[in-house]
Amino acid sequence: MKKKGSQKKRKGSRHLETLKKANPKKVDEHCVSVMRGTEREREREKRCSSFLSSPLVSGSFLFVFLVVFYSLRLHFVVGYFSFVYRKIAEMGLVEVLLKHPEELPALVKLKIAAMQASRAIPADPDLAFCYGILTRVSRSFSIVIQQLGPELRDAVCVFYVVLRGLDTVEDDMSIPIEVKVPILKDFHKTIYDPSWHFSCGVKDYKELMENFRFVSNAFLGLNKGYQDVIAEMTQRMGAGMAKFIESEVETVEDYDEYCHYVAGIVGIGLSRLFHSSGLEALAPDSLSNSMGLFLQKINIVRDYLEDINEIPAPRMFWPREIWGQYAARLEDFKQEENSEKAVQCLNAMVTNGLSHATDCLQYLSAVNDPSNLRFCAIPQIMAIASYAMCYNNIEVFRGVVKIRRGLTAKVFETRSMSDVYEGFYKFSSILASKIDNKDPSAAATQKYIDNIQAACEPYIFQKEKFSGFEYFMFLIIFLLLGVMVFLLWREW
Ligand code: MG
Repeated sequence: MKKKGSQKKRKGSRHLETLKKANPKKVDEHCVSVMRGTEREREREKRCSSFLSSPLVSGSFLFVFLVVFYSLRLHFVVGYFSFVYRKIAEMGLVEVLLKHPEELPALVKLKIAAMQASRAIPADPDLAFCYGILTRVSRSFSIVIQQLGPELRDAVCVFYVVLRGLDTVEDDMSIPIEVKVPILKDFHKTIYDPSWHFSCGVKDYKELMENFRFVSNAFLGLNKGYQDVIAEMTQRMGAGMAKFIESEVETVEDYDEYCHYVAGIVGIGLSRLFHSSGLEALAPDSLSNSMGLFLQKINIVRDYLEDINEIPAPRMFWPREIWGQYAARLEDFKQEENSEKAVQCLNAMVTNGLSHATDCLQYLSAVNDPSNLRFCAIPQIMAIASYAMCYNNIEVFRGVVKIRRGLTAKVFETRSMSDVYEGFYKFSSILASKIDNKDPSAAATQKYIDNIQAACEPYIFQKEKFSGFEYFMFLIIFLLLGVMVFLLWREW
């Protein structure tokens, strides 16, 4: 480049000398105009540099820079705090902070446990698929399952995912009955065949069914003792589901039978898996069955609206023998004018479910291993909390009734049988406080509550607790420290 420039310059001066010889006057005029142009450029540069160097302009630039910088910074800080607020709201912390600050530590612990559960995926691809599905379809179950020892944990996870597959087939109302029934009946054989898959269900369930080979492979990787239990329970559940595909739940006996197939068998299967692991004595089937029924019945009660609004056809699990005493049609409870009867029927359904509570306490008191106890007890305490929440609550017919997250987190802190008795006592007391003596089932409800409390009372111990104010102060200090650390981190 440099070489080219100097050649051009030499060419230019030779050209100027030739022109000067031919017409000296014209060359002088040319030189004057060049000089004037150069001067103008110099003046412009001078004006520019004096403009830029003036205090007003440089001050303005600095001002704009600072405004933009601090706006961005402010925007970032505002964005950060709105992100934190959203996360807090998602965790249910806002309600906790305002009304139940003492639940905050338990909620944080539960969040950490949930994150750990989602990361605790085994290296084996078949088991990894099963745990991945489990984490997505049941977050709470994926947390409690982490309590179990590795071998039993894998068996319980595969058992759960196999039964989820069966349930997905049962729940998919678009599958013609003539196709569905043979699948349900033969499901215990298909789990031995890794080439089997079937497209049904939606979202995570669809993914499960289309990739069922992973579940089959994980199942085939288990000890034969576990395989036999899972296959037998799958056969019994599939046959029971097929039986209820075309028949409605009419009597309380039918209701108990249906719940036995879809949940009691899970309780029996889990007891057999515990026994196969060598950690527990074999629990009586009647108690294991009650464990399943206690959970299933409150799910059926709570899911009234979702099931009755199911498309293309409503799903009805409430027995006619109970609801027929309060309405001509089960869907009538949705109407506001039937609220009184709806709540009476609801209370009768809750009372029916409570009949299994003392069996559950008996089952849990016989569990030997602390990890197994925690695994079994947490869902049961959640269930009695749901019974207390749904009882005499018209909202069951209007929307979704959920236990607040802080309370759920407290239940997840269950460690011992003493905690179980305390939980059952506490939630049965809440339910008892809602009993209206004019309710047709009041006497029966009170009887079951008395039985639960009589079973718990000898084991209840008063624990010292922090006051709400102490937790609130702890929270304020924690938040201030968090803000300070954040600001220091930003500065550095
Ligand atoms: Mg189902």
